[in-house]
Amino acid sequence: MRIFTQTRGGDMPSIGFGDVILNPKANHGGLYTLAHFPPLPSLDTLLVLSYTQLTETIFAHLGLSLDGVSDALKSYASFDDPLDPAPVTHLHDHFYLQELYHGPSRAFKDMALQPLGRLFATYAQDKKYLLLTATSGDTGPATLESFRSLNNIFVVCLYPAKGTSDVQRLQMSTQDAPNLKVIPIIGNFDDAQYTLKSLLQDQDFLDHLTSRGFHVSASNSVNFGRIAFQIIYHIWGYLSLVRRQVITLGEEIYSVIPSGNFGNALGAFYAKLMGIPLHKIIIASNPNNILTEFIQSGVYDISHRSLLKTYSPAMDILKSSNIERVLFALFGEERTRSWMHSLDTSKHYALTQVELTQLKKHFDAGFCSDEQCLEMIRSLSHIGKIIDPHTANAYAIAQTLPKDSPILINSTAEWSKFSPTITYALSDQTLDDAQSLEWISSRFHLPIHPQIRSLFDKYERVGEPAMPDTISALITQWLFDQ
Ligand SMILES: *Cc1c(COP(=O)(O)O)cnc(C)c1O
Repeated sequence: MRIFTQTRGGDMPSIGFGDVILNPKANHGGLYTLAHFPPLPSLDTLLVLSYTQLTETIFAHLGLSLDGVSDALKSYASFDDPLDPAPVTHLHDHFYLQELYHGPSRAFKDMALQPLGRLFATYAQDKKYLLLTATSGDTGPATLESFRSLNNIFVVCLYPAKGTSDVQRLQMSTQDAPNLKVIPIIGNFDDAQYTLKSLLQDQDFLDHLTSRGFHVSASNSVNFGRIAFQIIYHIWGYLSLVRRQVITLGEEIYSVIPSGNFGNALGAFYAKLMGIPLHKIIIASNPNNILTEFIQSGVYDISHRSLLKTYSPAMDILKSSNIERVLFALFGEERTRSWMHSLDTSKHYALTQVELTQLKKHFDAGFCSDEQCLEMIRSLSHIGKIIDPHTANAYAIAQTLPKDSPILINSTAEWSKFSPTITYALSDQTLDDAQSLEWISSRFHLPIHPQIRSLFDKYERVGEPAMPDTISALITQWLFDQ
């Protein structure tokens, strides 16, 4: 049976999980997704499963191949607690955190990218792959950690030379595995992304690689392989609350998600479609509040917007890619195609009132100012909890919800990833990453994870920042020297 389809319709061959992982972009400009998310037959059988068993059970239920999955899940061995990679902790009252940052890069991207690297290698078999990626912060480090030392898979990661925090830069520039190449680019994140796009369209470059036996792929947030793994921890979080007797099985909770490209929230939405009792999925934004506007009004309009710089950079977004998959699941391919066309041509599309009502059965949304974000960090520090700015945005929105159900807030980064902002919130000091890590650690008796601490002692293995038009030569030279 055909399990994958594409969001904008059109003919496509019958393809499997491996195909969507290796070549994440569908034709017709759309995204791959599953045609169906059938309800789970029962939830109580899930309660006793380990994280690995839960993943395999859900994948099997969705019709996804289990080839290589159990091996891929061994990557969670690098998490703080391999048996509970996404633990739920109590914040206060009816607020709970699901901590998604216990992997090697200390941000939530590891939840999906750690297993994805090994799964990619399983499907690549002995073919040689070049994986290209451009990052402004958290995706690059997580991708490099995941693909390091894999045979036959080479990764090039472009980042804006002056566009990341110190910790994020060091997480990339100190990588020493021979299959990884990290290139700082002169320019900002848009320049890095534009360079990546140009490379993927540069026929000479691609032909040159093909002639040497390389397949080219791109690592990006729309890869369905990532989404598949991001369904699991939402189910795990719900089950964890049941096991702790915070709720009984079947009772509803709110899930609050600091959102950007909507990959995390999409996983929650798919879990909800399968019958996990999420009363609403609450989308938290920062002042770049396009998602709030859309979910409240049904109008997605970026024609009058430009991107603002905030304390929560991973949520700075205008075009949120994975919304397209929500639209497809609720309204089908024809509506999705016409909306996406309208977004491309006039930077705007609108749902009808009936459609909006349907969307709001699943979602609600709110946004948080930068000042409020700092205030949330301060207020939780008074009970000894240090949260990162992305999580702080979600906590702010969580305050506005009815108190009738437990609230599970997705915590997407460890404090150590954004320590200068936290130090500023708590003391008005402007310190660099190394100083602020020490300041927070000693003030709140929090250990600095060895992955973060050791970054400052390592050698940075990158060259001078490169001009975008020199990148293709840099890549081929590096690759053919292997
Ligand atoms: C990527 C990221 C987000 C946004 O997640 P999306 O899946 O893109 O919505 C939020 N917080 C942090 C810390 C992130 O790294």
